Amino acid sequence: MSARSQQFDIAVIGAGIAGASVAAELSAAARVVLIEQESQPGYHTTGRSAAVYSPIYGPQPIRALTRASLGFFDNPPKGFTHHPLLSPIDAAFVARADQAASLEAMQAELADASTVRRIDGAELFRKLPLLRENYAVGAIWDSGTSEIDVAALHHGYLKQFKACGGTLLTNAPLAALTHKNASWQINTGTHALTVGTVVNAAGAWADEVGQMAGAERIGLIPKRRTALMIEAPQGFDLSEIPLVVDVDEEFYLKPDAGKLLISPANEDPEPPCDVQPDEMDIAICVDRIQRAFQVSVRRIENPWAGLRSFVADKCPVAGFSKQAEGFYWLAGQGGYGIQSAPALAQLAAAEVLGQKIPAHILAERLDPATIRPGRKGIGV
Ligand SMILES: Cc1cc2nc3c(=O)[nH]c(=O)nc-3n(C[C@H](O)[C@H](O)[C@H](O)COP(=O)(O)OP(=O)(O)OC[C@H]3O[C@@H](n4cnc5c(N)ncnc54)[C@H](O)[C@@H]3O)c2cc1C
Repeated sequence: MSARSQQFDIAVIGAGIAGASVAAELSAAARVVLIEQESQPGYHTTGRSAAVYSPIYGPQPIRALTRASLGFFDNPPKGFTHHPLLSPIDAAFVARADQAASLEAMQAELADASTVRRIDGAELFRKLPLLRENYAVGAIWDSGTSEIDVAALHHGYLKQFKACGGTLLTNAPLAALTHKNASWQINTGTHALTVGTVVNAAGAWADEVGQMAGAERIGLIPKRRTALMIEAPQGFDLSEIPLVVDVDEEFYLKPDAGKLLISPANEDPEPPCDVQPDEMDIAICVDRIQRAFQVSVRRIENPWAGLRSFVADKCPVAGFSKQAEGFYWLAGQGGYGIQSAPALAQLAAAEVLGQKIPAHILAERLDPATIRPGRKGIGV
């Protein structure tokens, strides 16, 4: 059977949150095809997140993009979703005595964040009695954090994409990508496509897709993070428990649908794959959580793992390749790709369409040079 030939203006590779959001933004102005290797969009990292919106988490460019995404989360386009995309939850970044320097550093880094407050160990214990007494000497308490309805966000973008006439191809792994006569020829086995521009939103596979296109390597390293659910202990009001993150990211804990979601916050390098949770990650997680909280873990429920993909400076990579004409990078979102997706998609779509970066993103003090593919310190 010969592959079906079709022409589009733009092909987006990968239908996770990065690909779905930029495809939706582009589809109002261009003919867009969204290409996904799996049968289901969102099967990889997007479907495996902890669903947190934290404008104080991550490196500076991520925090800027996360703040710039708030308007979309609070006020998505009409018909995008019937559910609120964000539900507020407090967050506490807690520190033991040996982590006091990390707490100082975090406070200094967040000096201009209006939603954060430093609290001491006594106040922390009053607000968070689930913590073992005397475990922590203090915390950064944030009232600007929320939980994200990731499924509603992802489905909303896919719905918007289809409503604008976008074409989604699933079970369509990229088999070949060649540039000829100022256009890209894409082969997925079942489809032969000709497009003007390719957007690389392939998550953990982004460097592999870049190699197929003859683009520079960005030095992307996918890192496994494991999470699991446990029973909530008796005698605590779950609605009063914030998201609790170790200040050095040695663990986090979050109330989730009547249970507790916990993670050792690990970052273990892996090749791009359908990553699975590791027994050792789970054992380390349970140990750290039991040391910090009045929790005795009897049963592990539903452990999972996902790949958070980073370049060396942990900032995302968005911009046209310097080596491959008409090839746009949208990769390296690491552990922040859901909370920053709306602004990153708006920025990428504007650039792919030859427009200026939207003013509300620059107003959050995003320096575009900090996210470019050719920047110093990344790549190999
Ligand atoms: C445990 C965990 C907790 C997290 N918690 C949070 C959080 O609280 N908040 C937050 O903002 N972020 C969080 N993240 C990070 C967030 O999930 C990611 O940054 C985001 O999902 C990345 O989206 P993506 O679209 O780039 O990648 P993906 O969702 O992996 O999508 C990439 C897609 O590209 C497809 N693809 C790849 N290669 C090809 C090819 N050759 N041909 C066709 N298709 C291809 C893949 O099949 C995949 O569907 C977490 C991640 C993990 C693992």
